[in-house]
Order: sequence, then structure tokens, then C-alpha cells
Amino acid sequence: MVPNQKLLGRFAPSPTGPLHMGSLIAAVASYCDIKQRGGRWHVRIDDLDPPRAAPNATESILQTLSAHGLKSDLPIDYQSQHAANYTKVLNHLAPQSFFCTCTRKQLADFAVYPGTCRYNKKAIENAATRISVGENKITFEDLILGKQEHDLGTEFGDCIIRRKDGLIAYNLATAADDAEEITHVVRGQDLYPTTSVQIHLMQALGLTPPIYAHIPVLTYADGKKLSKQNLAPALNDAFAANNLRDAFFYLGMHGPQTESWSVQKLLAWGITNWNLDNLPAKLTPFSANS
Ligand code: GLU
Ligand code: ZN
Repeated sequence: MVPNQKLLGRFAPSPTGPLHMGSLIAAVASYCDIKQRGGRWHVRIDDLDPPRAAPNATESILQTLSAHGLKSDLPIDYQSQHAANYTKVLNHLAPQSFFCTCTRKQLADFAVYPGTCRYNKKAIENAATRISVGENKITFEDLILGKQEHDLGTEFGDCIIRRKDGLIAYNLATAADDAEEITHVVRGQDLYPTTSVQIHLMQALGLTPPIYAHIPVLTYADGKKLSKQNLAPALNDAFAANNLRDAFFYLGMHGPQTESWSVQKLLAWGITNWNLDNLPAKLTPFSANS
């Protein structure tokens, strides 16, 4: 592996609660992938939604990553510190943006936004800002899912970039941050539906999108994804090596991992043995005592 400072991967948890096995899998996958390419790995805390933040979640996430040997190669980044850049990108997108006062109820019957407010070009209080996606077609090559094509107008519709409550929307913040320096985004397939609109936003900003790989998501036996909402058990840092072994197991990486291996040794093994082509299409369902 030849070091390449230009390659940068990232893990971008939202501080809504402690990390669980599903989050560890995403962290480990992005880590092993970029390290195998010789690149650097970066932790970004997506803390733009204070109403959803859980007390001490950021500290707990960083503590858990560190216990698992997952060390950020750059200082921890916080989206909450990017406000100036988000204002800049919002202004840049102003020619394609409009102010939307539609209520959830008014939109309930539509699969995609019907364009009601498209002509509200002047700022309105308590309105969301949307960007017109027009008939833009987005194609990208996902390293796991292959060639992807989306017609934004019919599949996604005009996208909220600033929420009614004034908060920057996830898609805009992610687009602005992932396009800057990130070269490889490895994340769960639950986020796949946001990718084409994020690429649209990057294109509108004149920025180059990263390369994407969307990994299968860890679910319970009933197919529901592990999440903080359904109280997925928090990782126990005291069993970090065990947790890493489990994460590799779910990723279909079975190898000579003995009980005595340290987290560093396990990660080094993971970097060597990482292979996107060998990922299972579906992960073995989660069981709390695997
Ligand atoms: N912060 C997002 C989340 O925790 C993930 C962002 C991303 O990977 O695009 O769901
Ligand atoms: Zn509207």
C-alpha cells in the first residue's frame, strides 16, 4: 500500500446517541477501505440538529471510536463550526432556490414536491428554502451497487436545503462537506437515496463529488435496521476487540482472528483483508449475543 495524502475517507455520525453495532460496521468499513487505498480517515460529527442531539453523545461516540482503535487522522471536525461556509453555499445556490411555505399536510398526498412555491424567489419568514432540481439526471458509479441513474425531477423533487426552523438541511451540509476534500464515502445503504441529490447540490456548487460505496445495513431478523430509535444496544467499550471481531463477521470477513488480538491487530488485519467485492449482499441479522 502506497500512502496517498490526497485520499480521504470519513465517518460522519450524528450525535443522537451512543454508537451501536450498525454504526461500528459503517466506521470500520470506511476506515479499512480508505486505509487500504493508502489514504487518511477522518471523523466528522454531524451536529447540525440540536433538537435531535442527545446529551454527551459526542463524547460517548469519540470515546467509543478511540476504544476501538479508530483514530481520526485529522482533528475531529464539527459541522456546527461550518456555519460560514453553509451561508456561502446557500447564497451561491440562491438563483436556483425558492422559499417554500407548504405544510406537511399540504404535501402529504404527493410522492415528490409538486413545485407549489417555485416562484417565491424573495425571502419569506418561517419558510423552508428549496432548490429546483429541474429535470437533472444524475449518474454515478457506486463501487458496490454499480452504475446508478436517477431522474431527480420525478424521483426526488425540489429538495430542502434550509429548513423552516433555520437549520441547514442534512443534504446540503453533507454535500458541502463531502465535496470539499473527501474522496471516498463509504456509508450504509440507508443513505443511498440521498446520494443523487447530494451530487446534484455538489454540481450546482461547482464541486467534484467523491466516489461512493454503499454497504448493506445491519438489521434485526425482522428486517428493521438497528437505530437509536429502536434502542439498538450501545457498544460496550470494555469489549472493543470482541465488537470489532463481530463487525468483521457481519461484513463477511472471517479470518484468523484469535481471542488474544488487540484492536490494533484486528484493524490491521481488516485493512489487509478488506475487499468490496466480497461483501455479502445482505448482512447476517443482528443478534445481541453473537
Ligand atoms: N450523519 C449521518 C447519520 O449519522 C450520516 C451521514 C453520511 O454518512 O452521509 O445518519
Ligand atoms: Zn411549497
